Amino acid sequence: MEERIATVVKNAGSHYLLSELPKWDPFPAVLRGKVRLQKSSATNPVAVGDKVSYITADEKGPLFRVASQPYTGKCSTGAIPSAVITEILPRQNYVIRKSTNLSRQAHVIAANLDQAVIAVSLFFPEIKLPFLDRILVTCEVYKIPVVIVLNKVDLYRDEAPEALAEFHRIYEGAGYRVIDTSCKTGEGIAELREACAGKLSLFSGESGVGKSSLIKAVDPSLDPKIGNISLAHLQGKHTTSLYEMYPINPGVAGKGRIAPRASQCRHSRSTQNSCDPFGYIIDSPGLRGFGLVDLEKEEISKYFPEMLRVADECRFVPCTHTHEPGCAVKAAVDAGEISAERYNSYLGMLEEDGKFR
Ligand code: GDP
Ligand code: ZN
Repeated sequence: MEERIATVVKNAGSHYLLSELPKWDPFPAVLRGKVRLQKSSATNPVAVGDKVSYITADEKGPLFRVASQPYTGKCSTGAIPSAVITEILPRQNYVIRKSTNLSRQAHVIAANLDQAVIAVSLFFPEIKLPFLDRILVTCEVYKIPVVIVLNKVDLYRDEAPEALAEFHRIYEGAGYRVIDTSCKTGEGIAELREACAGKLSLFSGESGVGKSSLIKAVDPSLDPKIGNISLAHLQGKHTTSLYEMYPINPGVAGKGRIAPRASQCRHSRSTQNSCDPFGYIIDSPGLRGFGLVDLEKEEISKYFPEMLRVADECRFVPCTHTHEPGCAVKAAVDAGEISAERYNSYLGMLEEDGKFR
């Protein structure tokens, strides 16, 4: 029996939607009673972005049984799942969410992310750098490359040029890519779209910074506040899940006509072609649910890339980079090579006992 590989693009509650990326052609699948699992305490064993092995109905007769329960053979719309997930392939990375601070149960919300696009705005709402730094640390812990999108620049480029330059100094100095954008003027949207090419990007941002507007600007056919229309025929009315994958339309945004939706294209083979999506987006509802990582105090500085780069030269190992003589990190802060703002965020995290959101 042939096993094929596909990617989970949506958790629809009673079933999953898979697609053989890069091709966008989602089909329903169910979990077999005992799916081969990596050691995990996660409550949902399969997450959006997971690469899975599956077999199809034709090859395996009595598959309409899930966890030894008779399977009704119906998805919410009456479609019969044609595939059964048999194995979850090892994850390159994943993002978890815990239901509470103390909870041991972790919920994997997305896997195999190529990057996190962190949307921020300097003003309206006013940015809190320590909060952004926590998100960045979380991404470093998860081993997810970050692109920072500084949105609404139309509102403060002329009003607060120093603040804008300062932001770039701090975060580009730390080693992050920063893209200035405006959904109002269109500035930076092409660059952001290009940054998403061929990748699975988790879009995250505090409410109000314009994350939904950015997703819509990258692909006008997507509307995070409404949902992905292209999947409507495969899902019931009440199956909207918090995390699902959206294909970025391969047509060029903002330049006249948009090409047919990738999901309507039947020319796809297993390799990327012009009909395949331009990239893939997972919309994350707010930053607070994005993750909670438990770190030992000594570990935190490893997730500040600019500190990690110089920490080898500290006289003491381990070094907390606070009071130790001969500390290379403190020397770099004093020399202005590491920003005081980032260093202060680091000190704030140390005080919080390594548990933070
Ligand atoms: P979300 O909560 O992060 O998804 O933010 P929305 O996309 O809903 O945007 C919040 C508000 O900011 C809306 O009123 C948008 O019209 C506005 N907005 C979004 N992007 C920009 C921008 O680049 N410039 C300006 N001036 N307003 C923006
Ligand atoms: Zn040190």
